[in-house]
Amino acid sequence: MFDYMPWWDKETKQFADEVENFCDTELQPRAIKFLEQNKDPMEIQWEASKICIDKGFHPLMVLAEEKYGGRNKGYAGYTILNEEVGRSMININPLLTSVFGAGPVHLFGTEAQKEEFMTPLVRGEKWASITVTEPDVGNDAAGIQLHAEKDGDEWVLNGWKRFITLGPLSHYHMLYANTDPDMRRIHRHLTAFFVPTTLNGITFEKINQLIGDVEMANSVIRYKDVRVPEEYMILDPGDGWTVMTSALNIERLGIAGVVGSAKNLLETSRAYGRRRVQFGNPISRYNGVQLRMANISMKINLTRVYLYYLAHLLDTGEADMFTFALKSSTAKIFGTQSLTEMALDALFICGGDGYLQETGIGGILKNAALMQIAGGSNDILKLFIGRNEFMQDVDERMLTPSVRGPTKEDADKL
Ligand SMILES: Cc1cc2nc3c(=O)[nH]c(=O)nc-3n(C[C@H](O)[C@H](O)[C@H](O)COP(=O)(O)OP(=O)(O)OC[C@H]3O[C@@H](n4cnc5c(N)ncnc54)[C@H](O)[C@@H]3O)c2cc1C
Repeated sequence: MFDYMPWWDKETKQFADEVENFCDTELQPRAIKFLEQNKDPMEIQWEASKICIDKGFHPLMVLAEEKYGGRNKGYAGYTILNEEVGRSMININPLLTSVFGAGPVHLFGTEAQKEEFMTPLVRGEKWASITVTEPDVGNDAAGIQLHAEKDGDEWVLNGWKRFITLGPLSHYHMLYANTDPDMRRIHRHLTAFFVPTTLNGITFEKINQLIGDVEMANSVIRYKDVRVPEEYMILDPGDGWTVMTSALNIERLGIAGVVGSAKNLLETSRAYGRRRVQFGNPISRYNGVQLRMANISMKINLTRVYLYYLAHLLDTGEADMFTFALKSSTAKIFGTQSLTEMALDALFICGGDGYLQETGIGGILKNAALMQIAGGSNDILKLFIGRNEFMQDVDERMLTPSVRGPTKEDADKL
């Protein structure tokens, strides 16, 4: 039975039941079959994604408005779907990538852009990639070098991108280009383009061999004199940083799959801990094992409530984008770091059996590591949070004189 949030309306609760039933009947049996064959179900992403599309559970369909073929279930619906898919031990990264790629059109597109792009993306007939990372640009996303120059009614792109998920498989690249290096100081140097991959001058130079996500055609791409019509620009020249950081918020909320994966770890650990007997007792009776279980349980509950709270802020329009970036970063860091820790706790509870492919823990662990890197490394997002805390005013009420130090008036007298 799905654990509803107390503030959900009837429609959201019904949707949660519908998603739960879909995952139980369509996704989980496939995952179990894969595990029984000693294969990692995290690697049946395309098959799982196509089932989601056919049954009306593409995350972009869940988010988008009805007039574009969507179901308009808001960020709560999007989070519910991601949680349940995670519980099925499957990941639908092709679909999530397309959501992140299409996110800026959904958030900021003109009516004409939405009419042209959204419906086929929502139906899963077309796909979009998010195209930020470059050979010399990783976490320092503001350092983008791929250059775009205006020529009449077109922009001409020159440069490289790398690590692009679905690169050669997608129909559009949500691409960020440097259009005015002099404006970097005020973050007005980037511009966002929704680039059709059929344009001349785009070449796929390499497919990366990854340790997970092997079907995702993660690639290195060259753009040489690619002419992009102006109508494919999202917002205005110089708005690229705003577009990128807002779209990253959707990506970070998409980590709700960690909650589902963690529920799986909890159930596996519970069943194993009860049945495995050592030193004459089920290992669940030993304090050390209980402490590991407590770690998993606490982290699931905290991550889950915080993610649904964030979805609620977005759905009710109570979030402003800057403070939301801090919150979504908090969720992303805590959720993905916790998933790695929880996967290790579950693996150690299961001992040598935890290292067998058939428990599914290995696939979750690999996915958790990737989630700590993608969408901005956790370390860098922490710096953003830490720096912001030092920029806030001190609340003097909680300080003793020795902590506060001299006031400005006192200091002037010294
Ligand atoms: C499987 C996979 C899929 C991906 N898909 C996409 C995609 O679809 N689109 C896309 O655009 N990108 C994608 N990426 C790229 C991903 O977003 C980047 O890997 C990520 O942003 C980190 O950049 P980087 O790897 O260049 O690391 P770097 O920025 O080079 O960082 C390397 C290390 O240095 C640390 N570090 C760097 N600067 C600092 C600092 N100032 N202080 C402290 N520590 C620091 C980092 O925390 C990290 O530990 C993907 C990556 C992978 C692995």
